[in-house]
Amino acid sequence: MTMTRPLAINEVVNNQQLCEVFLCAPQGGMRKSNRTNTLTLISDKTKLYDDKVVDDIYHYTGMGQSGDQKMSGQNLTLAESDGNGVEIHFFEVMKPREYTYRGQVELAGEPYQGQQKDQDGRQRLVWIFPLRLMDNKAKFTKPPSATNDKQELKEEFKGIQQVENLPITQTEKERLIKARIGQGKFKKLLIERECKCALCGVTDPRVLIASHIKPWSASTNEERLDVNNGLLLCPNHDALFDKQLISFDVQGKIVISQTLDEAARIFMNVNEGLRVELTEKQLGYMEYHHQNLI
Ligand SMILES: [Zn+2]
Repeated sequence: MTMTRPLAINEVVNNQQLCEVFLCAPQGGMRKSNRTNTLTLISDKTKLYDDKVVDDIYHYTGMGQSGDQKMSGQNLTLAESDGNGVEIHFFEVMKPREYTYRGQVELAGEPYQGQQKDQDGRQRLVWIFPLRLMDNKAKFTKPPSATNDKQELKEEFKGIQQVENLPITQTEKERLIKARIGQGKFKKLLIERECKCALCGVTDPRVLIASHIKPWSASTNEERLDVNNGLLLCPNHDALFDKQLISFDVQGKIVISQTLDEAARIFMNVNEGLRVELTEKQLGYMEYHHQNLI
């Protein structure tokens, strides 16, 4: 037996659903299930981690939080997975409690040992497993430190900045800038991280819109390049956010402008119960946005 129901690549599930699909334990970064003969690996980007992606190979750090890691238990299961028949499935966590399925993986080489700091800050030996996705349409998220991404963004934004010199009105400039941002690298990075509209279930990248939380015109160059200053929304929710008719408080709870009437709320799919998960850095930008709510 394998998964109890197939998951689509990039499907987002919560912890309970993940456990139901693989019949595994609800905690841990490596979860073995004898009932489905699977090993589920979870790469949690919201915690400190040393994992790397090089040329589409994920270098996954094994199990064991403190002291030298041993080649036993689930580390051994993973090391022997090219011959023991256990399926290895891979998830990434970009936001608390949301598990994004990246698909089945296989070893791309021999596990090797490396030096990393443990949870108490002491140097220790860890086991690292090079992993490859088996479905060639699937992709791992590159760690946010990737300097290439920042360089590409910089180049792209240099071009966008020139829009400010065009002989058109401020409104036209803003519209043009927003469209340009929404086609390029910034959107790509946001989609890799967020996968869907922050407020609803729209996942189709063709209609999702990448916006700056603190508007482009008010942001410094550094803030313009910061993906944490981005929010991925569907067209309805983006329109409301862009026009400052909705914003979010420090708990991520939606704040709706008093000027938005009941019919608009219904047809634009917003209500007081909505909330988003925001990282610390996103919150900083959101405070600015919230102050400008109409
Ligand atoms: Zn939406």
